[in-house]
Amino acid sequence: MATESRSSDENRTSRRARILDPAAIERKLSLNVYNVDSSRAHIRIIDHEVCLLCARQQCINCCPATCYTPRDDGRVLFSYEGCVECGTCRIVCQEFNNIEWTYPRGGFGVHYRYG
Ligand code: SF4
Repeated sequence: MATESRSSDENRTSRRARILDPAAIERKLSLNVYNVDSSRAHIRIIDHEVCLLCARQQCINCCPATCYTPRDDGRVLFSYEGCVECGTCRIVCQEFNNIEWTYPRGGFGVHYRYG
């Protein structure tokens, strides 16, 4: 019983360490393979001028694949090639609803290699 409990504690500690490891997400993302559809972006910022009105620009902070980059002029640069199709940006842009979001066409997009 005590052995089971210790093992459970170790698993919990190990899992917590992986979650808190900031490099873990980058290691996992590096294993993915992307078949980029160069003829069609599956996500786009509808109006770059609207981003100037958005004080928080949460897309920059929340995208796990860092597809959104702040520009010096206050606009947001977006590149869809590394997108993991999580949908986070669509959720965090609800104030201005300035992201057109679809999945890539069949056969394109991310192919997960881990998890
Ligand atoms: Fe980033 Fe997820 Fe939006 Fe793709 S769907 S751009 S990974 S937040």
